[in-house]
Amino acid sequence: MSKRPKLVLVGQLSMYPWVFEAAKRADIDLILVPRGDDTEESAGRAAAVVELLPLDIEGNPEAALSALADRYRREPFDGIMAGNEQAVPFVARAAGELGLTGLTEEAATVVRDKRSMRHHLLEAGLSAPGFVVIEDPDGWTDALTLRFPVVIKPVNGHSSFGVIRVDDKDSLEQAVARTWKLVEDHLGADDGLAAEAGVLVEEYLDGPEISAESLVYHGQVRVCAISWKGELTGPYFQETTLRAPAQLPAEILAAVEAEVIGAHHAFGVTEGTTHTELRLVGGVRPVLLEMGARIGGGGYMAHLAHVSSGIDLAADALRIHLGREPLCWRAEPVPAGHVAAYQVPVGSGGRIKHIHGVDSVRTDPRVDYVVETMGPGALLNPYPDFSGYPVIVLSRHGSDAEAESYRDHLARTLYVEYEEQG
Ligand code: ADP
Ligand code: CA
Repeated sequence: MSKRPKLVLVGQLSMYPWVFEAAKRADIDLILVPRGDDTEESAGRAAAVVELLPLDIEGNPEAALSALADRYRREPFDGIMAGNEQAVPFVARAAGELGLTGLTEEAATVVRDKRSMRHHLLEAGLSAPGFVVIEDPDGWTDALTLRFPVVIKPVNGHSSFGVIRVDDKDSLEQAVARTWKLVEDHLGADDGLAAEAGVLVEEYLDGPEISAESLVYHGQVRVCAISWKGELTGPYFQETTLRAPAQLPAEILAAVEAEVIGAHHAFGVTEGTTHTELRLVGGVRPVLLEMGARIGGGGYMAHLAHVSSGIDLAADALRIHLGREPLCWRAEPVPAGHVAAYQVPVGSGGRIKHIHGVDSVRTDPRVDYVVETMGPGALLNPYPDFSGYPVIVLSRHGSDAEAESYRDHLARTLYVEYEEQG
């Protein structure tokens, strides 16, 4: 019998089950490097995890790398994969040093930086909105040359943290200052945000938003699933719903694929998996918002891809990081239906008193997963700040219309009640 492959999974939050379950399905053992905000108890219980390897990747990457190399010398593992956005550069570097499959360090740097992605897209002749990078808060006047409305965001942000739409020039200075302050107040929160990286101001792309989940093996890209996020008009951008497969005409899907494949080439992303967000300007023309070289949504985008396309995206991503060919390269997948994700809106924010409706969601036969990330007593800041998604629901449906009506049902029945502010 051949030895079970072993992969180091860096920073995958253990309360999100999808990647762990995929490893189990694929008979892959995991050495988990827990995220700073994970607990040892929960991390140790996650499916397929055979070992915990705590490393201080953010605080002391050099020491983390040498501890990882020591672990490799004691008993080599077969691959390493990033379980969150911030881990991407560390994992690329580690893979390079240990001779394992992964991104080049250059590509990892490009996809961690929204400014850099914009430059590479333009160089490759792909679409990008007009943009200006502001290096300090007083530099906001540089963005007055853009066509309004514009969107302000941290250059290396996440989860729509500090992202603000601004409709007119008179509101620009104040909004830039607000994003800047959010980034500064957030320093030390261990999520990779850095004020010195700056703030990006870019022209607003008017049209619905979609997401593309891809696999890349030896430079060949397969766009596995395209999901519909719908109209998000701001001024803040909490993502609440996704449905897959996106109901779009074949020619638009083809244009999306071409744009996404081109972006992989432009960024030099040649191995692994990616989560790409785009807007369809005027409902038809795909323009990339950003790409992450990891599975999106803490892993749940893999479930959306799995149901809507039949491709076990997380298992195939793990295979690629083990240096193996993904199964979907040879076997044509069979879609299993329509799937939806709902992230309960944070709304006004505050201290959580009660989350209504969770029990009936748990027993609903349409629901595949409910993940409650926080409970009563937790403090949630309203957008454009970010402190997490309280509940994530993944459900399965016979049609897109059914998925949409279930989303409407959840919007009415599943919500956070906050304590009264005193
Ligand atoms: P983050 O890393 O915070 O997710 P994004 O660039 O994805 O950063 O921005 C978050 C959200 O803000 C996007 O999903 C989108 O809805 C909105 N957004 C960002 N940039 C633009 C833009 N240029 N035009 C329209 N909407 C945008
Ligand atoms: Ca995003």
